[in-house]
Amino acid sequence: MNEAILDHVKHEGHNIYTFWLKPEKKIDQIAGQFLEVHLPHQNPDTRGIKRWFTISSSPTEKDLVAITTKMADKNGSSFKIALRSMEKGHKLKISEPMGDFVLPKDDSIPLVFIAGGIGITPFHSMIAYLNNNPEPRHIQLFYGANKLDELVFEKELKLLNNVELIPVIQNAPTNYKGQTGFLDSKKILEQIKDKKNARVYISGPEPMVEKFKKEFEELGINKNNLVCDYFPGYI
Ligand SMILES: Cc1cc2nc3c(=O)[nH]c(=O)nc-3n(C[C@H](O)[C@H](O)[C@H](O)COP(=O)(O)OP(=O)(O)OC[C@H]3O[C@@H](n4cnc5c(N)ncnc54)[C@H](O)[C@@H]3O)c2cc1C
Repeated sequence: MNEAILDHVKHEGHNIYTFWLKPEKKIDQIAGQFLEVHLPHQNPDTRGIKRWFTISSSPTEKDLVAITTKMADKNGSSFKIALRSMEKGHKLKISEPMGDFVLPKDDSIPLVFIAGGIGITPFHSMIAYLNNNPEPRHIQLFYGANKLDELVFEKELKLLNNVELIPVIQNAPTNYKGQTGFLDSKKILEQIKDKKNARVYISGPEPMVEKFKKEFEELGINKNNLVCDYFPGYI
C-alpha cells in the first residue's frame, strides 16, 4: 500500500466531491483503472474502512490523483462521513491501480460510453487523458444523471472535438432542451453510429450495468464488444 495525503477537495455537484490526493510514491495508472482506499476512522460501521474507487483524474496529472464520489442523502456509511470530514494533510492508504476497464489499444475502434451517475468517473479519466494525448478516436458518451446538478464534469467532457456528449436527465427542468428520462438501451442503440464495430463501455451502479449488459446482448451487440465496470454498494 502507498501512503497518500489529502491535498484538496472539490465540490462537483449535488453531494458529489472530488478528493485530490498526493501519493507518497508516484502511481502507475492507466486511464479507467481503480484503486482501493483504506481510511481508518472512529467507530466504523459494518461496511468497514476500505472502498474501491475509480481514479477520476488522468494519468498525465503530475503529482496528484483524484477519486470522485457521491455522498448519500441519508444513511451514509461511516467511511463516507470520515472521507468528507478529512482536512488537508489527512493521511490515508491507497493500493496500486488495477483493472482492465481501459481504452482499447486499437484507436480506430468507435467507442460508446454509457455512464449511470457516478459511473462517469472512468470516462472522465479517459477523456482527460485524451485531452492531453489526442488520439483519432470517436466517442459517443451517453451520460444519465438524476438531476442537472448531478451531471458533473460537463465542461471537461465537452472539451474534446471527437467526443459527442449526450446527457440524459431523469428529473429535468420543464424548459430543458436535451434528452430526458432514464437511460434506455433501445434508444441508445438507435443513436449508435457504427453498431457493428462499436465497443460499448458501461459504468455505474451494479444493477444498472447488469441490466444494460443483458439488454444489449439481447439487442444483438456481440458480448465481446461489451466492457463493464460495476460499482457495488449503491442501493
Ligand atoms: C471497481 C470499482 C470502482 C468503483 N468506483 C467508484 C467511484 O469512482 N466512485 C464511487 O462513488 N464509488 C465507486 N465504487 C463504489 C464504492 O466502492 C462504494 O461501494 C460506493 O461508493 C458506496 O459507498 P458506501 O458503501 O460508503 O455507501 P454510501 O455512499 O454512504 O451509501 C450508498 C447507499 O447505501 C445505503 N446504505 C446505507 N447504509 C447501509 C447499510 N448498512 N447497508 C446497505 N446499504 C446502506 C445508503 O442509504 C445509500 O443509498 C466503485 C466500486 C468498485 C468495485
